[in-house]
Amino acid sequence: MKYISTRGNSPAKTFTEILLGGLAPDGGLYLPEHYPQVTRAELDAWRNLSYADLAFEVLSKFATDIPVDDLRAIISKTYTAEVYCNGRADSNAADVTPLRKVTDGVYILELSNGPTLAFKDMAMQLLGNLFEYALAKDHAELNILGATSGDTGSAAEYAMRGKRGIRVFMLSPNGKMSSFQRAQMYSLQDPNIFNIAVNGMFDDAQDLVKAVSNDHAYKAAHKIGTVNSINWGRVSAQIVYYFKGYFAATKSNDEQVAFSVPSGNFGNICAGHIARMMGLPIGQLILATNENDVLDEFFRTGVYRPRGTAHTYETSSPSMDISKASNFERFVFDLVGRDGAKVREFWSKVDAGAAPDAAAFTIKGTDYWHALPKFHFSSGKSTHEDRLKTIREMWEEYGVMVDTHTADGLKVGLEQRRPSLPLICLETALPAKFEETIVEALGRQPERPAALEGIEDLPQRCVKMDADVAILKAFISANVPA
Ligand SMILES: *Cc1c(COP(=O)(O)O)cnc(C)c1O
Repeated sequence: MKYISTRGNSPAKTFTEILLGGLAPDGGLYLPEHYPQVTRAELDAWRNLSYADLAFEVLSKFATDIPVDDLRAIISKTYTAEVYCNGRADSNAADVTPLRKVTDGVYILELSNGPTLAFKDMAMQLLGNLFEYALAKDHAELNILGATSGDTGSAAEYAMRGKRGIRVFMLSPNGKMSSFQRAQMYSLQDPNIFNIAVNGMFDDAQDLVKAVSNDHAYKAAHKIGTVNSINWGRVSAQIVYYFKGYFAATKSNDEQVAFSVPSGNFGNICAGHIARMMGLPIGQLILATNENDVLDEFFRTGVYRPRGTAHTYETSSPSMDISKASNFERFVFDLVGRDGAKVREFWSKVDAGAAPDAAAFTIKGTDYWHALPKFHFSSGKSTHEDRLKTIREMWEEYGVMVDTHTADGLKVGLEQRRPSLPLICLETALPAKFEETIVEALGRQPERPAALEGIEDLPQRCVKMDADVAILKAFISANVPA
């Protein structure tokens, strides 16, 4: 299996060749040259597999240049009950992603029982083990540099802690995260994890990362890489739980289901799109946004209009506060019949970002607009009031406590689903991560997994730093042996 760029101007590469990298050289994103098809016989054979065995079957179709025994070993050590045991007392950790029934025909797929209580662990834990394997083969090293306002940084740190050949330099805005988020990251004592609290806002931290990454000589000399959401390894790992959720919610492979997905960078739902393209019987892919509704607007109107920073809102589902979804280009590549020239034309305006809030491109009235229904997307948006209402209803009517992002998914999913289809809502985080809004909605604290009780009292390891590129570079150099 080879991977090609959505902009059509980069040489095809293998899975391991693109594993450690980011964008393709032409600025596009990598996708498989074709989607492997899953036969009916395979679906039947996969129905009762454990999570790890199912992950092996799915991923062996993508990671074809990793010897199968190695791939099986990497996957078996990733998807274990020990790693995914943070869940509620009534969850079955051995399932890795238990399916919880809310009411007849409505389910929540638990994806947040990993170490950082968010679905990003599902892919990031695999990435950590894949990176370690690939680096060991080449006797190579990687220094991951990133900026985080919460979820992604902690998922990356928990995935990379203690891994040979890997160091993580994670920048976060000093004093801007919740005490729980700080404790989660800063309490890690592993010598390969470096937490850097930048005096400034998240954007200042992000700018520092960009400045270092744009210094190509420094970047190469210090083997700097990233683990952002466009990484193909992450997207491919997320395909697996669509299969798992489908099997858990249905009795036979003749049935269809709807998935509802709280979306930000379009990585999670992109994996659902790929699962459907592979032949999984998904009748509806429901995309949920919060007040940052760029993607909802596109699916309703055909107009893609990324917003400027002034119109990117801070909400109570912060991991969805995104107005330029990085993985969306992957879907558009398929929508335009994999025409790289068309994607280049569309993204020339997206990348230029000249006029904030102006339409970058529109497909309304074109053949692409008429092709859109065949991809089975629906969409909708959810506001702070909707989140509070959904969190209350789920708790009062069904005794189920959900976080703010999952609440967005439930609200839009229940509103958009075709009633004939079972609805599977993807749970993207546990309520324990968003205490403030839970208290606002329910007047009580969410439960916290036992393993994380008192985490705020653990000793913390973190370097405070002014937002200065020279200081950051000196710090990295001092901690990366030449
Ligand atoms: C990252 C994240 C999302 C958005 O997922 P994308 O793959 O970026 O669309 C939603 N909810 C939570 C809790 C997240 O951490």
